[in-house]
Amino acid sequence: MIVGKQKSMDEIWEMIKPYKKILVFGCNTCVAVCHQGGNKEAEIMASLLQMRALQEECNMEILNAGIERQCEHEFFASAEDDIAQADAVLSTACGVQFMAAKYGSLPVFPGLDTCFMGAVDQIGVFLEKCQACGQCVLGLTAGICPVSRCAKRVLNGPCGGSSKGKCEIGKDIDCAWQLIVDRLKALGRLGDYEKLASIKDWSHDRAGGPRKFIREDIQV
Ligand code: SF4
Ligand code: SF4
Repeated sequence: MIVGKQKSMDEIWEMIKPYKKILVFGCNTCVAVCHQGGNKEAEIMASLLQMRALQEECNMEILNAGIERQCEHEFFASAEDDIAQADAVLSTACGVQFMAAKYGSLPVFPGLDTCFMGAVDQIGVFLEKCQACGQCVLGLTAGICPVSRCAKRVLNGPCGGSSKGKCEIGKDIDCAWQLIVDRLKALGRLGDYEKLASIKDWSHDRAGGPRKFIREDIQV
């Protein structure tokens, strides 16, 4: 899932204040799980912004709507009337670019900072699990990602800073490679630790520019 964090009200206010009818638009998938941008959070944010408009003596109407996913065209059908009413949209998800492209001249602003791809560790705690490097190495690392969980992204065993199972960047941070070795042992697969990972081709990494994945078998 994608984990995000709401922007501050001040930052949001600066973006939306020139507009008169703003739609706060939620997405009820990933960002609903982290309680930051789901339809319920979008509704609360809309109320807070309406109060802010009153405080600032701004003649502004804050609308609210949401859909299941802001990254697929088919889900927008139920919200077309709400979107058509607005003169700007504040998205509480990572669908900002998708909406900006879909609705041409309609300004779309981010209400959220998208943080990482992760998972729910425990209630209210979300951990990064993947950085979309484009060439997954988990098959050799016992299912623990050295790209997202090692500060140096080293691929062949720990660096010299690993101490007592902790990473040199913080005593409360596990060394990813200690976790990998422990789990390889537990799985009876320590032999994988002897296998050298080849030099990684970082051109597949998401930092290398916009990527595209085409499923030719399902294209229409
Ligand atoms: S190796 Fe790459 S694709 Fe696999 S989990 Fe780590 S960052 Fe994600
Ligand atoms: S101590 Fe471990 S997790 Fe930290 S940078 Fe070194 S190898 Fe990576």
